[in-house]
Amino acid sequence: MSQESAPEELAAVAVALRRHLQRRQRAGIRVVPRGALNGASPAATRDASPISGIEGDLFADASVDQARSLEDLRAAIGDCRRCKLCSGRRHIVYGVGNPQARLMFVGEGPGRDEDLQGEPFVGRAGQLLTDIITKGMELKREDVYIANVVKCRPPENRNPEPDEVAACEPFLKKQIELIRPEIIVGLGKFAVQTLLQSKVPISKLRGAWHSYHGIKLMPTYHPAYLLRNPADKKLVWEDIKKVLKEMRGENA
Ligand code: URA
Repeated sequence: MSQESAPEELAAVAVALRRHLQRRQRAGIRVVPRGALNGASPAATRDASPISGIEGDLFADASVDQARSLEDLRAAIGDCRRCKLCSGRRHIVYGVGNPQARLMFVGEGPGRDEDLQGEPFVGRAGQLLTDIITKGMELKREDVYIANVVKCRPPENRNPEPDEVAACEPFLKKQIELIRPEIIVGLGKFAVQTLLQSKVPISKLRGAWHSYHGIKLMPTYHPAYLLRNPADKKLVWEDIKKVLKEMRGENA
């Protein structure tokens, strides 16, 4: 992914802020109440969240923020038109798997096959991820949860742009909050750098434990990268073995 310039980042913030203010206006909220930004406003608060820092995203729709289940959240996303990716998509690729999964995989965004089928990681890279889960970890695909940073396919499989991430990331944050996995495996540079809000290269981040709002995060290479660089599969296997040890309580 190319490094965003400050004007691009500023543009993304401006787009997200404008949408947020428009939504507030549509909801009849004309002023930002004193304290609303730190969660003190009755309109902005909900039950205490078990995952600190995820809750109360300034840019999240009220219906997204208030979702109590993955189904509620999917309904809140609706036939999403919040960013320009909607114009080229066939399906919103929401996520798949066990709503109570201990382990969640997060990728970048749907490719062609995912866009056609409406399910994440079903193309060639997806087959490799499925092999990692089923053959490597001896789990079922249905045991884990799989989602992406953006839910609609970027044209020509380009990286999602900052305004697209700004529009879509609240959905991923809410999915994580609802599932509350013990461990997230971040797949590839884009997903990991987005989750960690970092510019550190994936080669430096992978293989070590990080924290996503208190949830253990293991960055590793993206399966699509592994299709191009099969020699690095052994590094991913090392990362996955650390995840397995953690899940089996062998790191205590
Ligand atoms: N690559 C991703 O990052 N996500 C998918 O769902 C498919 C390919």
